[in-house]
Amino acid sequence: MDKLEIINQLKLEIANISYSTDVDDLLVYGRDWTRFNQVNAAAVLFPKSVEEVQAIVKLANKLNFKLVPSGGRTGYSGGAVASHQEFVLSLEKMRSILEFNADDSQVTVQAGVITEQMQNFAEEKGLFYPVDFASSGSSQIGGNIATNAGGIRVLRYGMTRNYVAGLKVVTATGEILELNQGLIKNATGYDLRHLMIGSEGTLGIVVEATMQLIKPPVEQSVMLLALDSLDSVMRVFSLAKKELNLSAYEFFTDIALKHVCKHRNLDNPFEDSATCYVLCEFDEDEEAVMQVFEQGMENGDIVDGLISQSREQASQFWQYREGISESIAHFSPYKNDIAVKVSLVPEFMNQLDAMVKEHYPQFELVWFGHIGDGNLHLNIIKPKDMGITDFKIECEIVNKHVYGLIQQMRGSISAEHGVGIIKKPYLGYSRSKAEIELLKGIKKVFDPNGVLNPGKLV
Ligand SMILES: Cc1cc2nc3c(=O)[nH]c(=O)nc-3n(C[C@H](O)[C@H](O)[C@H](O)COP(=O)(O)OP(=O)(O)OC[C@H]3O[C@@H](n4cnc5c(N)ncnc54)[C@H](O)[C@@H]3O)c2cc1C
Repeated sequence: MDKLEIINQLKLEIANISYSTDVDDLLVYGRDWTRFNQVNAAAVLFPKSVEEVQAIVKLANKLNFKLVPSGGRTGYSGGAVASHQEFVLSLEKMRSILEFNADDSQVTVQAGVITEQMQNFAEEKGLFYPVDFASSGSSQIGGNIATNAGGIRVLRYGMTRNYVAGLKVVTATGEILELNQGLIKNATGYDLRHLMIGSEGTLGIVVEATMQLIKPPVEQSVMLLALDSLDSVMRVFSLAKKELNLSAYEFFTDIALKHVCKHRNLDNPFEDSATCYVLCEFDEDEEAVMQVFEQGMENGDIVDGLISQSREQASQFWQYREGISESIAHFSPYKNDIAVKVSLVPEFMNQLDAMVKEHYPQFELVWFGHIGDGNLHLNIIKPKDMGITDFKIECEIVNKHVYGLIQQMRGSISAEHGVGIIKKPYLGYSRSKAEIELLKGIKKVFDPNGVLNPGKLV
């Protein structure tokens, strides 16, 4: 059946269905932040209610058309890319906060609520939603749940998963599941809520979520440190972890800093360049922070440092870390979002450093990441004169070495960005054959007709 016939059927099924076949919309809604796959969407559908989502999914099963769930499209794995005439199902018209319960500190929202909207709502209620990252102003709660998003404060608060108290999902066959209903305790067998979290739109469409909010932290301070070597990063982490109640420990190299300063027109925070930098955030504690600083200097790890004196200054310091992704986006970087256990980070960084120097001498590399969680973002910058396909092929040759090392260290080829299309060929470096077979089996149970996000994840 061609797409016009499908659209006619959709119009019969849903009065006033909102959709677009405009070429610019197909391009914008047919992709995420990645640029490695062709975009070829049939149409974009904008359901306004759970019932409309359900009707679309049921019709997709009946007429055999494919759907790509789409949130804020800030993903880095191609999970929301429509390359094969799929219908993009955007949640952006489902952006209401539905219910707040002060006794439970829980809020129920539609999936299209923007992450920052959730953070602001929590603050208005005197509470805190701790999941945060540079794309919070555009990403949606549904997308965060579908990718189990992490971010800058995982060190203290954990991933999105920790805050999902209940989910309403339209499954790939059009059933509505109401999962866990906000319960703290619920020992009634397999927790399908957790199966949905991180399933990247392959099993069901998150339409509503009940999120747990928490007490806000005490006033936080931020320290920006210039370090002598990669080895210093984890030595200073051990010191800081011992003395301070950390909420973030982030790392970036001098090349990363230079990109941000240029892109955001910021002054370099230090007089002299250093090998790399860390940003740590922690409960204000003047005495302890001076102890870390002095000890780090004495050990020869810290070469310079700044401690925030106000909230404004703390957010200025954050810009040096949070602006990195955006500052390199126009180079179409190939992103590796990799992780090992924290105790293995020093060895991992040294081996990786040697490996990339050997295999990537022709490329500029931008390193940064949530190093306190064992999570590194290794970005390879596309040279201006190189085509995107040739660039991808070259990066994929080196992937085998990088992912081989990760496999050896029992790490992850995707710490928080998900698998999508881009990391799918490499899933076997982090998950065993038996696990992948089980994942495929789960996909078949939920989506027997292969309607939702085909070609992604498994
Ligand atoms: C500048 C920048 C910084 C970032 N920093 C971080 C970071 O620190 N930590 C981190 O974890 N991520 C980070 N990301 C990645 C990204 O923001 C997250 O993966 C985010 O959770 C994606 O949400 P989204 O709404 O944009 O989802 P999309 O990109 O639209 O979709 C992501 C996946 O979820 C599926 N999906 C979307 N909505 C739904 C739904 N309602 N139901 C079912 N499936 C759905 C899509 O099909 C796709 O597979 C960053 C991205 C950018 C651009």
